Amino acid sequence: MKPFTYERAANAQAAVKAVAENPGARFLAGGTNLLDLMKLEIETPTHLVDVGRLPFASAQETADGGLKIGGAMTNSKLAAHPIVRERYPLLARAILSGASGQLRNKATNAGNLLQRTRCGYFYDTAKPCNKRQPGSGCAAIGAPGGYGAIFGGGPACIATHTSDMAVALTALDASVETMTPDGTTRAIKVADLHRLPGDTPQVETELVAGELITAIAVPPPPPGGQAYAKVRDRASYAHGLAMVAVAGTRVALGAVAAKPWRAAHAQAALEAGASPAEAAAAETAQAGGEDRLVHKIALVRRLTAATIEDAQSRRQT
Ligand code: SF4
Repeated sequence: MKPFTYERAANAQAAVKAVAENPGARFLAGGTNLLDLMKLEIETPTHLVDVGRLPFASAQETADGGLKIGGAMTNSKLAAHPIVRERYPLLARAILSGASGQLRNKATNAGNLLQRTRCGYFYDTAKPCNKRQPGSGCAAIGAPGGYGAIFGGGPACIATHTSDMAVALTALDASVETMTPDGTTRAIKVADLHRLPGDTPQVETELVAGELITAIAVPPPPPGGQAYAKVRDRASYAHGLAMVAVAGTRVALGAVAAKPWRAAHAQAALEAGASPAEAAAAETAQAGGEDRLVHKIALVRRLTAATIEDAQSRRQT
């Protein structure tokens, strides 16, 4: 690991200033992804600004019946929060589908959204990777296995975003709230936070340098049932091959693109009266990618249909 310096931020403004003014600085909270990347020297920050103890570690009901979630709150605490368990069960289930108990106890909600891809070639420094080293190539294209984008990929990168929580938040139409280096705040839909790779797969989000996610705002749950499903190689502690979150008629997919994928075609079909199978097919008709991923399109179609059926069978909220 490369040497680095460390400071614990006194407040959000100081943290944002410290990172915005130093190109080598990074925010540190739970560290469950960043420290692994530093050990592999994939990330080599020269300075860490610890935001894990800022006063953004709780969740409160909002006046409109939604929920405001602290960016520095841990995943475990959020999954156990009574409002989440009662009104947003797909969010609790998604969080508990991710990583392990130990990791969820450390990982923060903001950090979860900003975790980097689990593409194996990104972590293998002997292999070319445009995301790790722009212009070096992509070792994943043509490689065996079922991991890879079926929506929004391209010749530069086919990595997927594998946060379970982000998929549930996308189905719930949540937004992140941030503090920017000029001292203003802004809200960004979780569905719009991450970027597709294009020619710059190393640029992964819409955040500017030094911009800090302080909270996540979740609107009141939509009418209708909720469900979450994940397919993976092992029953626990494995990244997803595919995930589906359903909240009413809103559908989001995970591990299928560089961002949590808002399945707008499926939603439109459901609102027009389509069956779950027809809605799922409307979404996967838009999918593509390498020939080796054809089975994944079928998997996502079936998982989406089954998860919509599951949501429709649940009590209306
Ligand atoms: Fe790197 Fe993306 Fe290719 Fe994976 S898919 S090797 S992250 S460029």
